[in-house]
Amino acid sequence: PRLANQIAAGEVVERPASVVKELLENSLDAEATQLDVDIEQGGVRRMKIRDNGRGIVKDDLSLAMSRHATSKISTLDDLEAVQTLGFRGEALASISSVSRMHLTSKAYGEDEAWRVEAEGKDMTTAVRPASHPDGTTIEVRDLFFNTPARRKFLRTEKTEFNHLEEVVKRLALSRYDVGFRLSHNGKQVYDLRPVTDQLHAEHRLGTLLGKKFIENALTIDVEAAGLRLWGWIGLPTFSRSQADLQYFFVNGRVVRDKLVAHAVRQAYRDVLYNGRHPTFVLYLELDPATVDVNVHPTKHEVRFRDGRLVHDFLFSRIHKVIADVRP
Ligand code: ADP
Ligand code: MG
Repeated sequence: PRLANQIAAGEVVERPASVVKELLENSLDAEATQLDVDIEQGGVRRMKIRDNGRGIVKDDLSLAMSRHATSKISTLDDLEAVQTLGFRGEALASISSVSRMHLTSKAYGEDEAWRVEAEGKDMTTAVRPASHPDGTTIEVRDLFFNTPARRKFLRTEKTEFNHLEEVVKRLALSRYDVGFRLSHNGKQVYDLRPVTDQLHAEHRLGTLLGKKFIENALTIDVEAAGLRLWGWIGLPTFSRSQADLQYFFVNGRVVRDKLVAHAVRQAYRDVLYNGRHPTFVLYLELDPATVDVNVHPTKHEVRFRDGRLVHDFLFSRIHKVIADVRP
């Protein structure tokens, strides 16, 4: 409990998209290689996430749903080195307290699967035997059924689904080695196979962001001073200008960061953009010890130890790639 108190509690459940984000991050932390996401009515009616990850053993099932139960860190020192996506141990507890949740899991090496249910509270019902292959399925129904104040803030089915799809998209862009299936109201939105090579990665990009983007994008892959930058840069002359087609990942996590945004904008500035929005999907990789990704609970900001170095690297490399093709 002391540790838990020292970790800032972030409000994790805001809308269906935040539920899906937490559940998918748990699945990825559990080393799943296939994620199936089934959504009904923008997620408000039902969200079902199934993974083929490590699973949860019977004795840990109820615990997993209680507050501040995390298997991911045990000391404050671990916070420094945290590599998993989640570590606060409150997602499942928070979600189950505002929904009807079923959790079914079979841990690797176990013979049986088990299931727990919760409805609008941290407490879970008895653990029952179930049928499930290796991995975990979590079903969340009737989000905010017991919190009308929060339900009131939900938007239309389409808007909620768009937010949710954006979450899946970002994760699918950060983990090409993982398969993602998404369906909404019984209709498949996409089925992205795990990929290992550039060609298939571009196929995934085309599916997620549109063929136009990838057909008119430059690739970049450069390394210097312990920094690597790779990905795709939309060609200013051809690519559709889209304010939201801007994805930047730092060590695999999507980031919306001032320093990064500034460097990228500067690099594009004097090159043909004329006020249009640059488009890009970029990945920065660097020594995890030189970047703090846990500045904020939603983890979209980062703090670089040497911000100057990162800024100059991004600016100069992106600028060069764009300038090279300038007519
Ligand atoms: P956190 O991810 O911060 O540890 P959560 O409330 O999201 O906290 O999850 C609690 C615990 O439940 C996790 O630490 C993990 O041990 C277990 N867990 C949750 N989802 C999964 C999953 N899909 N596969 C395996 N274990 C899971
Ligand atoms: Mg989690």
